[in-house]
Amino acid sequence: MTQAVDWASIRRDFPILSQTVHGKPLIYLDNAATSQKPRVVIDALRDYYERYNANVHRGIHELSARATAAFEAARARVARFINARSPDEIIFTRGTTEAINLVAASWGAANLRPGDVILLTEMEHHSNIVPWQQIAARTGATLVYLPVTGDEGLLDLDKLDTLLTHRVKLFGMVHVSNSLGTVNPVAELCARARARGITTLVDGAQSAGHMPVDVQQIGCDFFAFSGHKMCGPTGIGILYARAALLEAMPPYQTGGEMILRVEYHHTEFKKPPHKFEAGTPDIAGPIGLHVAMDYLDAIGRANIWAHDQALATYAYEQLAAKVPGVRLFGPRTGRAGLVSFAIPGVHAHDIVTFADRAGIALRGGHHCTQPLMHKLGVEATTRASFYFYNTKDEVDRLVEVICEAQRFFNR
Ligand code: PLP
Repeated sequence: MTQAVDWASIRRDFPILSQTVHGKPLIYLDNAATSQKPRVVIDALRDYYERYNANVHRGIHELSARATAAFEAARARVARFINARSPDEIIFTRGTTEAINLVAASWGAANLRPGDVILLTEMEHHSNIVPWQQIAARTGATLVYLPVTGDEGLLDLDKLDTLLTHRVKLFGMVHVSNSLGTVNPVAELCARARARGITTLVDGAQSAGHMPVDVQQIGCDFFAFSGHKMCGPTGIGILYARAALLEAMPPYQTGGEMILRVEYHHTEFKKPPHKFEAGTPDIAGPIGLHVAMDYLDAIGRANIWAHDQALATYAYEQLAAKVPGVRLFGPRTGRAGLVSFAIPGVHAHDIVTFADRAGIALRGGHHCTQPLMHKLGVEATTRASFYFYNTKDEVDRLVEVICEAQRFFNR
């Protein structure tokens, strides 16, 4: 259920947004790349470094105890944020990329054999393709892709049953596509895979901070996301994994922190999640992320989702109506908070440079989805991605500037 929210007052929580760029008020529409940070998160980082910076899990002294308590409280908060069964199912990583690399290197090495298949979708980010290519090369497994239908950017679900063969050991899928705005029916996809005993991984980089996420309801085995895309700091990410899987998986990296006992020729590892966290972790990161999660939940993720979707739908319709010949990617309805488009005869980088001069931050390029761009027959798209601090006026200004760019470059 959504509620009335004072979005204008929320926007004032973000110090970075009240500046000018090239003499124009900043309109930040690159939220799919990284989100901005509210003052409470920035303050939490400063507070940690000013008052209780110490290494975790090691010291007996007071500062170390406080840092450790805050670090583990953040883990418990993440578990609640995505409805994991236990904090022990939450591993801190550097981001989505490292979370997926961990699964590919650890679970993949232990479970993949020659002839096995890793099923992915054609709309995956490079971070959910390249780690699987690497482990496939080492284990003799192969990669197969569930097709995307075309510009409307939906998964071709009719093909799924024939692709979910007995050879498939893992099905990896993006929850929300960062270059199309498609929201995939991950609960259904995971259920269909689970019915065949296939392990599932959901890339939640674009979903976790934007909509309510419940890993038990989704029914996935692994769920990966990044703190920096949801008002948290860079350098902190999450891998959720079902406890039974973590118990059976070998460590990812090894060294200090993750051990129980070391001898010159033998080591006993800690239990998960610590077995997967070697060395001194990012400590300020989880602490900042904790505050970010509290902040997002105080606004309400259902409210954020409704706001993001409304802006993206409005942007899609305005671009379709006002930019002659524009090619819009992803579904017309039910899209996440971003629009991705191409204007014939104008390169995405030119549009982004033009928009930048008007104070608007956009992203132009392949968005780390090169295979998808090839499939769609484009080199690059221009992407505007929204968050709850963006406004309808900003979308109007975006559309105005895109029209100006089109006229300028097509003179
Ligand atoms: N997956 C998706 C869908 C993304 O959009 C991104 C980042 O853009 C990633 C994975 C990688 O996230 P990170 O760079 O934070 O590891």
